[in-house]
Amino acid sequence: MSVLVYVEQVDGKFKKSVFEAVSYAKAIADKQNSNLTAVSIGNVADAELKELGKYGAAKVLNVSNDQLKNFVNQAYAAVIAEAAKKENADVVVLSNSFSGKGLAPRIAVKLKAGLVDGAVELPQLDGGKFQVKKTAFSGKAFALTELTSAVKVIALNPNAFGVKENAADAAIETFSPEIKSTDLAAIVKEIVRATNKISLPDAELVVSAGRGLKGPENWGMIEELAALLGAATACSKPVSDADWRPHSEHVGQTGIAISPNLYIAIGISGAIQHLAGVSSSKVIVVINKDPEAPFFKVADYGIVGDAFEVVPKLIEALKAH
Ligand code: FAD
Repeated sequence: MSVLVYVEQVDGKFKKSVFEAVSYAKAIADKQNSNLTAVSIGNVADAELKELGKYGAAKVLNVSNDQLKNFVNQAYAAVIAEAAKKENADVVVLSNSFSGKGLAPRIAVKLKAGLVDGAVELPQLDGGKFQVKKTAFSGKAFALTELTSAVKVIALNPNAFGVKENAADAAIETFSPEIKSTDLAAIVKEIVRATNKISLPDAELVVSAGRGLKGPENWGMIEELAALLGAATACSKPVSDADWRPHSEHVGQTGIAISPNLYIAIGISGAIQHLAGVSSSKVIVVINKDPEAPFFKVADYGIVGDAFEVVPKLIEALKAH
C-alpha cells in the first residue's frame, strides 16, 4: 500500500495548493503507515522536485517528456494512473484545481477507483471504513462519503488543509510510461498568462465586487484595496458577463470556487449561485448599502453602507498603517 500525490506544475513551479495536497497526502500515508510518492509531469528542475520532501514526499516520479510539456488531460490522467499502478498506490491525491477537476474522474475510471472531489478534511478511518468529508450542493452543505473501492482518488479543495512542513529532501526517480497517440489527440500548444497578478484560485485574500459598483470605470478602488491587502480580485457573474471584468475573475457556481481565508464582497447581493463558489471562505466581509441583502446572512462581518464611501475610507485607513 502507498499514497500517490500528483503535483501540478505551472511554468516549472509548484503552487501553494500543491504543497497543501502533498501535506494532506502525507497525513493519509502516516495514518495508513505507508509511503508517499509524488508524480510530476512536465519540465521541473531537480531542486523544485527535491523540495517536495519538505512537505512529506519520500520520492518523486519525474515524467519529463516534451510531448507532455503542456497540460493534456487524457495523457496526464493516463500517466498518473500508470504511476499509481507502479507504486501500488491505494490512495491517489490531487488538488481540486481547474486541471484537477478534469483529471480526477479520468484517473478514477482508469484505476476502477472510488472518487471524492472537493475533500475538505482528512479521511476518517474508524472501524475499517474510509470516509471523507466533502462539500456538496455547490458548497451549501457537507457530505461524508464512504469509499469502498480498493483504490481511492481524492481531490482536495485548495485552502482546506494547510501546508505542513517535514524535513527531508525527496529522492527523484525518472518515470517514462508509454504514452498512446490517442491520449495526445488534443494538445494545448501554449498557455499565455494574461496578468502577473495574484492567482485567484490560490489566493488567501480576495476582494470581490458586483453590479453595485455600477460600471467598469469604478474598479480602480477595488484594485487599489486589493493591492494594499495583497489580495486577488474577483467579481460576480453579471459583472464578467457585461465585460466589466475578465471571466477569469468570475466566482460562483458557474465560475471559480474559492476558499480564501478572507473574502470581501462589495456591492454583491449574495445570490445562491454566487455563494456556491465562496461560502467556504474562512471569513466573509460584506459591504452593501441594502441591509436586507442576502449576503449578510452568511457574513462574519457586515458593513451597511455605500461602497463609494466605505471603500475609500478603508483604503485611507490601510494607507495610514
Ligand atoms: P445584483 O444582484 O444586481 O446585486 C447588486 C448588489 O449591490 C445589491 O445587493 C445592491 O444592494 C448592492 N449595491 C448597489 N449599489 C451599491 C453601493 N453603491 N454600495 C454598496 N452596495 C450596493 N452569479 C455569480 O456571481 N456567480 C455565478 O457563478 C453564478 N452562476 C449562476 C448560474 C445560474 C444557472 C444562474 C441562473 C445564475 C447565476 N448567477 C451567478 C447569477 C446570480 O443569480 C445573481 O444574479 C448574481 O450573482 C448577482 O450579481 P450581483 O450581486 O453582482 O448583482
